[in-house]
Amino acid sequence: MADFCNKCSVEMGFPEPDIDVYKIWESLEPGFFETHICEGCGFVGVAKSENDELFVIHQNGDGESVFYDYEKYEGLKIDDNE
Ligand SMILES: [Zn+2]
Repeated sequence: MADFCNKCSVEMGFPEPDIDVYKIWESLEPGFFETHICEGCGFVGVAKSENDELFVIHQNGDGESVFYDYEKYEGLKIDDNE
């Protein structure tokens, strides 16, 4: 069974996301993340930053974790955090 996040569910025409990124984010303590795999956009984790920001985590081809701003879907470097 494939799991899709909020954005991908909308794109696929499903009424409810399998992975509700916002609910997961609300349930997290700052500085923590949970592993979830969206089979649409391919993220592997949902993270809440120390400043309560929502990020999704992708793996790049080099086995590194890249944080994405879920709203804008822009990749961020970890040391971009101010
Ligand atoms: Zn997705």
